[in-house]
Amino acid sequence: MVKVAFFNTKEYDKEFFNEYNKNYGFDITYFESELNTETAPLTKGYDAVCIFVHDKVNKETFEILEKNGVKLVALRCAGFNNVDLEHKGNVRVVRVPQYSPYAVAEHACALLLNVTRKLYKSYQRTRKYNFTLDGLLGFDIHGKTVGVIGTGKIGKVFIKIMKGFGTRVIAYDVFKDEKASQELGFEYVPLDELLTNSDIISLHCPLTPETENIINSNSIAKMKNGVVLINCSRGQLIDTNSLIEAMSNGKIGGVGLDVYEDEDEFFLRDMTNSYKRDTNLSILLSMPNLIITSHQAFFTSEALNKIASDTCQNIKDIFDGKVCANELK
Ligand code: NAD
Repeated sequence: MVKVAFFNTKEYDKEFFNEYNKNYGFDITYFESELNTETAPLTKGYDAVCIFVHDKVNKETFEILEKNGVKLVALRCAGFNNVDLEHKGNVRVVRVPQYSPYAVAEHACALLLNVTRKLYKSYQRTRKYNFTLDGLLGFDIHGKTVGVIGTGKIGKVFIKIMKGFGTRVIAYDVFKDEKASQELGFEYVPLDELLTNSDIISLHCPLTPETENIINSNSIAKMKNGVVLINCSRGQLIDTNSLIEAMSNGKIGGVGLDVYEDEDEFFLRDMTNSYKRDTNLSILLSMPNLIITSHQAFFTSEALNKIASDTCQNIKDIFDGKVCANELK
């Protein structure tokens, strides 16, 4: 029986994986802690580990895993910037490249509407029986220019939604999908052109050395005054200090974030009763016209079902000696 050590486990992980595991029969142990160099010794005697976005598998962790007999790291997510593939040695790595692009694109849209129509603010008001409208003036998305950075699975769904609003969509990607561009009716432009012409910018590219801090003081300077920025991809795409400065001086007019540069110690945890705070996160949370969700974009029942089923199948394929299309080399 394949022994799997789960890290960063939440109750919903257990719920979905226990259900799917009825068909697979893996021997699963759920750990609440994240996987890192300190917790890696816990993996002794396991065949596989199953991890999420905040677990860190660097060279040292891979070495401990291999020494402990772990043969597989199964990511139950799409992004894999937290895994140092160059130093994986003989440990194999799989992921779930596609579980629901709709979940993430729809969440990006939810954040956008929250910002453009100040829904977070009206919710707080009406609950207190304050039914005034002062300070809630929004703007139509219709007719605006939306810039999408990264036109992969999620970016394309987001573009489709934005086209439904009656926007002009311009996009930047290092690999152009010309067929999608024609079918969905958007135009590829150089990054600078996107930054200069967009009223709304949404990030849907992965975190790589090329995209790290792609939104920084230089790129922000090229943007329109009052631009709305949405990030449902990875926090490190945005240099937070530059973002705070641009919000403070009104260059950026609204922000919707599902991810944050230094989210690892905070997101997906209840820190209400902790004194631990992150200065930049606290500044951001105090800003008007900004909404932050806690890496929640993936969190739909459709996505969790697919994550659980595909992760179980990935593990089975590897231990059955089959070719696994979701393996990262
Ligand atoms: P994808 O691989 O289908 O698409 C990514 C696109 O980004 C590709 O078209 C690629 O060519 C493009 N790209 C790569 N490097 C680029 C660069 N330097 N500049 C511009 N474009 C570049 O991935 P996807 O499924 O659409 O997911 C996109 C990202 O969303 C993931 O990498 C992940 O970080 C993030 N994500 C977040 C959540 C969440 O819950 N917030 C959930 C899933 C995925």
